[in-house]
Amino acid sequence: MPGRSVSVGLARSAGVAVVAGLLLSSGATGGAAQGGVDYRPPSDALHRPLHDRLKAERWLERMQVVIGTFRLPRPVTLRLESCGEVDAWFEKRTVAVCYEYLQVVIRRIESGQLPPWVTADEALAGAFVDAILHETAHALFEQQRIPVLGREEEAADQVSAFTILTLGGEDAPGLIRGMAQLYLSWIGYYQSRPQRPLATGAAPGEARAHPTSGQRLYNLVCLALGFDRKAFTPLAKAVDMPEDRASDCAGEHEQMARAHRALIRPHVDPAREAEARRALRSFAARR
Ligand SMILES: [Zn+2]
Repeated sequence: MPGRSVSVGLARSAGVAVVAGLLLSSGATGGAAQGGVDYRPPSDALHRPLHDRLKAERWLERMQVVIGTFRLPRPVTLRLESCGEVDAWFEKRTVAVCYEYLQVVIRRIESGQLPPWVTADEALAGAFVDAILHETAHALFEQQRIPVLGREEEAADQVSAFTILTLGGEDAPGLIRGMAQLYLSWIGYYQSRPQRPLATGAAPGEARAHPTSGQRLYNLVCLALGFDRKAFTPLAKAVDMPEDRASDCAGEHEQMARAHRALIRPHVDPAREAEARRALRSFAARR
């Protein structure tokens, strides 16, 4: 539930970024208030290049323009900070992404572990954009008192994916591939950790509020397939999406689109969508 505990899920229990120069100014066209940005200096020198790059390229400012399309009565500040663990979170009026969260992606890039179907830029941008959108979805649910049927963590994943698919245009697949890469990397991460089985025989991951990393991966790819089968079939093949799930994705997408129209759309400001689209697409720009 909302509060500091609302996080992307990897970290609390685990203990444990394109293009420069796109100047998207405060960008407000509708007069609505916009939250601030906060690039906190990293406590670990390892994260300094990440801090410097994202600040220079105005990643948080650009994401403020993206989330500016949501009607948040109390705008959130977007923050990058050192957390001492791999996490991203929302609390009150702050959405934060930890350097450690993005460093996981950097490590995979630098060690040559990225799958061949995703670029380094897509991997970093997908992880970053999704983390902000997922956490901002929690803020939207809370501030607008949006009813959530099912688990809030899944609903936040869906709002994030839906926003990218609908605003991203032809650049959406790159960001979705970056998100898929992240979930894929978590599967291996959890499998590599010794976990005490629960007395019921259930794996600990099954008791968590977040879907398992594999479920998040296939939920994402299924939603994308339902949105645009042609554009996302290569990704579905790359992640070995089972045919019996793939055949249902158009229906899954339609059901979610209906819920999105009823529950989320009333809280989206159409006047700010064009600039949100430009800001989002800046993350997918080729270098
Ligand atoms: Zn969450």
